Amino acid sequence: MEKAKLVIIGSGPAGYCAAIYAARANLNPVLFEGFMSGGVPGGQLMTTTEVENYPGFPDGVMGPELMAKCRDQAARFGTRILTEDVGSVDFSKRPFKIFGGNTQVEAETVIICTGATAKRLEIEGAGDGEFWQKGVTACAVCDGAAPIFRNKDLYVIGGGDSAVEEAVFLTKYAKKVFLVHRREELRASKIMADRAKKHPKIEILWNSEIVKITGDQIVQKIHLKNLKDNQIQEREAGGVFFAIGHQPNTAFLNGQLKLNEAGYILVHNGTCTSIEGIFAGGDVQDWIYRQAVTAAGTGCMAALDAERWLAHQEH
Ligand code: NAP
Repeated sequence: MEKAKLVIIGSGPAGYCAAIYAARANLNPVLFEGFMSGGVPGGQLMTTTEVENYPGFPDGVMGPELMAKCRDQAARFGTRILTEDVGSVDFSKRPFKIFGGNTQVEAETVIICTGATAKRLEIEGAGDGEFWQKGVTACAVCDGAAPIFRNKDLYVIGGGDSAVEEAVFLTKYAKKVFLVHRREELRASKIMADRAKKHPKIEILWNSEIVKITGDQIVQKIHLKNLKDNQIQEREAGGVFFAIGHQPNTAFLNGQLKLNEAGYILVHNGTCTSIEGIFAGGDVQDWIYRQAVTAAGTGCMAALDAERWLAHQEH
């Protein structure tokens, strides 16, 4: 089994930023950037288009390009990057054991940055190779400003805070935003729910679900089913946005760290997890902000926390 001072599990802004800091601190980090499971190497930005809110890029930057630059920066300072998924870990005692697809490493300290994956619905027309990323997306804030959505009827699926937030965000571009919810009461907090109900450009479609998405090159229509009377209506649509929550990528931990009820890693004092010597950054521990820049920030914090913890062990 290989030995390392620090293993970083997961990539994206958090993992790469943790690696940049750790490598520059001469910790020779090994980074498992992932391969197939959960998200993709580079995280959620790999599936988005233009990122306009990451500081330092006044003209915007494509998500995959930003992640390629972060990866290069991590490699430049000596991070060993493995394009492998971590299938399981053994955190029962130190050194911690990490079991990758091909490589197994014993680490003195570990940073987890495996992110979260936006949940998608299996609707006819919404899949890869259909209209996914051609009008169907799971991130209004990332994709909503694209020209294809301008002045169109847009549909947001979900009834939680994310759905309301995304619907309100989309009103800047849309002709009208329809919030499609499967029940007749929103899950969102009262203040957010009121915001949706009062907004002149938002209409809530209660007890409804989208059962089919059609179009040519991009989305043109949806089939909306009323769950009370099972009637199906065909409607014009410029886009469909899933806002039904995220799934943190924590299954590989197999219950070894404390998680909240939604599966996110619980952290305290910065990025400390429930096991001393194991830290977490990025969306895997953040169900509130979930931005590239906050992920990079907490990745940096995790590297500094790990470095200080290692220094403390050696004295
Ligand atoms: P959420 O609260 O879990 O809401 C998910 C919504 O999607 C629910 O309304 C749910 O419907 C619906 N849904 C789930 N599965 C579905 C399916 N298969 N088909 C149709 N609809 C489905 O998730 P979230 O809105 O992403 O929020 C996650 C957490 O982040 C919450 O704690 C939230 O308060 C927080 N958050 C806060 C803010 C803010 O304060 N500004 C913004 C975003 C998120 P049901 O209601 O019927 O279950």
